Amino acid sequence: MAAREELIILFDEMGTALELLGANAFKVNANRKVARVLEDMTEDLTPLADDPAALQKFDGIGKSSAVKICEFLTTGRIQDHQALLEQLPDGLLELLNVPGLGPKTIRNLWEHAGVESIADLEQAIADDALGDVPRLGKKTIANIADSIEFMKKAGERMPIGRALPLAERLIEHLHAKGGVGQVEYAGSLRRGRDTVGDINLLATCDDPAGLIEHFQSLDDVDKVLLAGDTKCSLRLGLGMQVDLRVVPTEAFGAALMYFTGSKEHNVTLRERAIKSGMRLNEYGLFPDDGQDTPPQDRGITPAAAATEHDIYAALDIPFHPPELREDRDELDSVPPLVTIEDIKAELHAHTTASDGHLTLKELVVEAKRRGFHTLAVTDHSRSSVQANGLDDDRLRRHIEAIREIDAATKGIRVLAGSEVDIHADGSLDYDDQLLAELDIVVASPHASLKQDPAKATARLLAAIAHPLVHIIGHPTGRIIGRRAGLSPDLHALIEAALEHDTVLEINANPQRLDLRDIHVRAATDAGCLLAINTDAHTDTHFDFLRYGVLTARRGRLGPEQCINCWPAKRLHAWVASKR
Ligand SMILES: [Zn+2]
Ligand SMILES: [Zn+2]
Repeated sequence: MAAREELIILFDEMGTALELLGANAFKVNANRKVARVLEDMTEDLTPLADDPAALQKFDGIGKSSAVKICEFLTTGRIQDHQALLEQLPDGLLELLNVPGLGPKTIRNLWEHAGVESIADLEQAIADDALGDVPRLGKKTIANIADSIEFMKKAGERMPIGRALPLAERLIEHLHAKGGVGQVEYAGSLRRGRDTVGDINLLATCDDPAGLIEHFQSLDDVDKVLLAGDTKCSLRLGLGMQVDLRVVPTEAFGAALMYFTGSKEHNVTLRERAIKSGMRLNEYGLFPDDGQDTPPQDRGITPAAAATEHDIYAALDIPFHPPELREDRDELDSVPPLVTIEDIKAELHAHTTASDGHLTLKELVVEAKRRGFHTLAVTDHSRSSVQANGLDDDRLRRHIEAIREIDAATKGIRVLAGSEVDIHADGSLDYDDQLLAELDIVVASPHASLKQDPAKATARLLAAIAHPLVHIIGHPTGRIIGRRAGLSPDLHALIEAALEHDTVLEINANPQRLDLRDIHVRAATDAGCLLAINTDAHTDTHFDFLRYGVLTARRGRLGPEQCINCWPAKRLHAWVASKR
């Protein structure tokens, strides 16, 4: 992790620790402010390691914070940070992971009910022992109990947004050793599932034992679970298990296929092999000679083994991209699937006008740099108060600013849009007259996300049927592992989307991935149009595209039904058709 990112975490934690310890609001906010300033900073911090005065030039960084930043840059830690954490019981910070629990409530639970961990909290709820905690009603307690339950169910899996960068870092580490050939991640991560239980790595190397040893030199190894000649299992600090297998180059494809799964897909392939008089295992596709001893142990040469493509070809089955290996379909046809390179438009993005970190100009520059022909600027509407949503007047001025920059910028069309809140009753956050002034409208649910399914369905149907709405943003509002979101009748939504020519979004933010894969599949099969949007709040968020594309591919979405893949002319004509 870069120094700046670590510092953001440290200052945030100091703010939180101070709040839990009951420090005054000024001290708490000063630390959080430093974290925010660091977040927005683009400068390299390293040259400032012995220059606190230079750091103080940044608005929001005071003298003592500047000294702490320099301390970290020279020593790799902040003593005050450690001292603060030592004053807290070990399990207290993990309570922050419970959705809906903030530092204030946690402090109250600690002070008034002796709650020091999630386990304590569960016990206290079971014992009905939270009566003396101020500002904690029965309904809140019931919600907290729900959240803990939900967390436990989701808890063992890591969101793909953390797992994929982690796997890439591990691969980079393996490549740092000499003599390494191919390295790939397999398993559900390669299939692009939204959460991942563990990470499976496969490598080829001249010196397997040396590579196994090198693998254990990773800096965040919590425990070595197993270290053999060609296999190694580690538990990393984050609780994630990582397996590495070193396999022969000539059997790499067979191993990759086997460990990518899914189990069900592998079973189907093995059955197909048997029908063709062959045997398929993790060492290759062999002629079946009816003997019990595995062919690889008898020196039999496989018909195919080096690449997955070879094996699919030898089985006379079209190559299946990993995202389609869930055994949901017949094996004989693979449709064209959307790719990252196909995406030419971003239709949901925020600026500093609401809660984004880029100015309008910076956002346009970034979208253009990414090679997009179209960008829709869609800041939040007025009801999203916490996101600094725009009231009518601010939106009108924003539209003007967007029109100006569109006229002044060559090579990209900038659409004036809004991400309009869909209220609990299905009405929208701006009146129709104002909506009609916008080029494009993304309508999204942000509040009342615990509605019962019938109300949620009615709410979203109203937005889909609204003639001025183009796209329904993150339709369920789920946050992976934290919030289930709405559970509307998806088929009713899909039918309405078809009828009204409204697009359903795949929000590519890896914490959302909403619609999820099975919803995408249902929409694709029905002939719906979908959008893959990153919902960018800063420049790096454009990288979320890959998660959205993986989810889309798992749903068998092709470029024809994904409006972000359309040529500019076709897309603009469709956008204009709603005006
Ligand atoms: Zn949103
Ligand atoms: Zn958004």
